[in-house]
Amino acid sequence: MPSDSLDTLHDLFIHELRDIYDAEKQLLKALPKMSAAAQSPELKEAFDNHLRETEEQVSRLEQVFSDLSEKPTGKSCKAMQGLVAESNELLGEDANPSVMDAALIVAAQKVEHYEIAGYGSVCTFGRLLGLDDVTELLKQNMAEEEKTDKLLTSIAERLNAAAESGEQSSEAGGGEGGMGANRVRASGGRQSSGGGNRRGRSSSRAKSSNSRTKSSGTRGRSTSKRSRSTARSRR
Ligand code: FE
Ligand code: FE
Ligand code: FE
Repeated sequence: MPSDSLDTLHDLFIHELRDIYDAEKQLLKALPKMSAAAQSPELKEAFDNHLRETEEQVSRLEQVFSDLSEKPTGKSCKAMQGLVAESNELLGEDANPSVMDAALIVAAQKVEHYEIAGYGSVCTFGRLLGLDDVTELLKQNMAEEEKTDKLLTSIAERLNAAAESGEQSSEAGGGEGGMGANRVRASGGRQSSGGGNRRGRSSSRAKSSNSRTKSSGTRGRSTSKRSRSTARSRR
C-alpha cells in the first residue's frame, strides 16, 4: 500500500500521478461506451482515436512510474468516477440523437479539462523536481488532452448547427428545451478555454438564425441577444 503522507513535493507528485493513472484507466472503459452512443461519425471517430491515445497515455504513465521506481496503483480518482457516472447518466437518457451528441461532447470536455488540470500540475512538479525525461512523457499526454479538447470544440460547432437546424424544422415555435434555447442561455456566460457548445455559435449561423426567427417575438429577442454576444466574441 502506498503511503498517504505528503511530506514533500515529490510525494505529492506521485500522489497526483496515481490519481491520473486511475483516471486514465477508468476512461479506457468509458470511451467505448461514449463512442457507441455517438451518432455523428466524426464524433465517434474522435472518441475512438482518443481511446487509442488513452492506451498510449497509460503506457507512458507506466513508463513514468517505472523510471521513478514507484507503483502506479493505490489511488482511485473520485472525480473521474463522478464524471463517468454523469456521462453514464446521460447515456441512459432518451434523447434526440443530435442532442445526445452535444451532451456527449459536454461530458467529454469536462473529462478533458480535468485531465488537463492534472497533467498541468504534474508537468510543473516534474520540472521543479528536475525530472526532465518523466516530464517530457507527461507533456505528451497533456498535449493529446489539449488537442482532443480543441477537436471536440470544433466538432461541437458543426454538430450544434445540425442540432439546431433539426430543431428549427421540427418545432412550431419558441421551445425552450432544445439546443437553440440552451445556446441562447449559454451566451450570457463567460468564455473559457473549452466550452465547445458555447462556441458553437458561429457568426454565420447566428446571422442566419436571426433572419429566420425575426417574425417570432420571443425567439427574435433571444436571437438578437445571441447575435450581440457573437459579435462581441468575434472581437
Ligand atoms: Fe487521458
Ligand atoms: Fe482525481
Ligand atoms: Fe483525455
